[in-house]
Amino acid sequence: MSVFSEVPQAAPVAVFKLTQDFTNDQSPQKVNLGVGAYRTDEGKPWILPVVKKVEKLIVQDDSLNHEYLPILGLPEFRSSASKIALGDDSPAIHENRVGAVQCLGGTGALKMGAEFLRRFYNGNNNTKTPVYVSAPTWENHNAVFANAGFEDVRPYKYWDAEKRGLDLAGFLGDLESCPERSIFVLHACAHNPTGTDPTQEQWKQIAEVMMRRKLFVFFDSAYQGFASGSLEKDAWAVRYFSFSKNFGLYNERVANSSQMEKIVRTTWSNPPSQGARIVAVTLNSPELFAEWKDNVKTMADRVLLMRAQLKAKLQALGTPGTWDHITEQIGMFSFTGLNPKQVEYMVNEKHVYLMASGRINMCGLTTKNIDHVAQSIHEAVTK
Ligand code: PLP
Repeated sequence: MSVFSEVPQAAPVAVFKLTQDFTNDQSPQKVNLGVGAYRTDEGKPWILPVVKKVEKLIVQDDSLNHEYLPILGLPEFRSSASKIALGDDSPAIHENRVGAVQCLGGTGALKMGAEFLRRFYNGNNNTKTPVYVSAPTWENHNAVFANAGFEDVRPYKYWDAEKRGLDLAGFLGDLESCPERSIFVLHACAHNPTGTDPTQEQWKQIAEVMMRRKLFVFFDSAYQGFASGSLEKDAWAVRYFSFSKNFGLYNERVANSSQMEKIVRTTWSNPPSQGARIVAVTLNSPELFAEWKDNVKTMADRVLLMRAQLKAKLQALGTPGTWDHITEQIGMFSFTGLNPKQVEYMVNEKHVYLMASGRINMCGLTTKNIDHVAQSIHEAVTK
């Protein structure tokens, strides 16, 4: 008998299961609105033209090799990424309050941050500090913080299903009533899965309570530039909070970096170089940087166009309910408000694949399939 015979079956990750079901579906009408990745109007993945160009430059550069990078990553990548997030004129950067670690994707960055906080925030190895994540949130937030040792991961109010928008009063209420020094995971822009962000005025209210109550802000910035098409606009909240010394970014103390190195060393030891080089070369050349911003805007604009068209089509069909939230929401995702039964109908009867929560990836919509999707939503709502 195998020593692994007792291993229990783990539940499939919903979003990948959905893609598998989509792949197995033979219908020519099928549409995948599940996984969160950009697609062109032909429904294809898109390698940004600027990335292709920079990849060629890198291949031709004989000075480069495949030696290990430093544990914290490529220095030019770390500094240019910090500037993108916080802005060229960031006081936090000028006052040397910023530290950066090149991580393995967004998930790796969350893991590094969570590990660091568990080890050193609010006393050493304080596993009891509450970590608040939005209700709903990107599902992995809960497990990443729990796996880093936090024993008390809780939801904070965010989505108002009734009005299909932000529950600001509920959110502020949770900020007022939680224990001081709690950690709050905030989505910098293009909230996943609701596509609903606070306005600048609302962010100011949120910041005021968080500062007064000594709460720790943990921004997850997964979609900067992709929400509005502007790096500046999408970084507004992060930059607003970073102006204050009271918010975490105290100092790139040598000790902090040394501890980050230790965490990285036992997790992936040192990061891969290729992606970081592409980013560093792109961001450090004014021409390539401009080209990249243009590429990002191309993607953001296509999403905005699909939002406008989907809303217009649902309104033209006279689908019951209001659909203004489709254009009020931002980024790749829209929380349609479809309930699980309606979602089931969409998947099983119409071959339109979306998450049970009603979340759709706007990038899955194209000028060719949008009529079928709108008609399917109409039928799901009216049947
Ligand atoms: N954080 C948020 C809010 C996300 O939406 C995602 C990706 O879906 C991630 C983190 C993870 O990013 P990555 O796929 O680079 O690990």
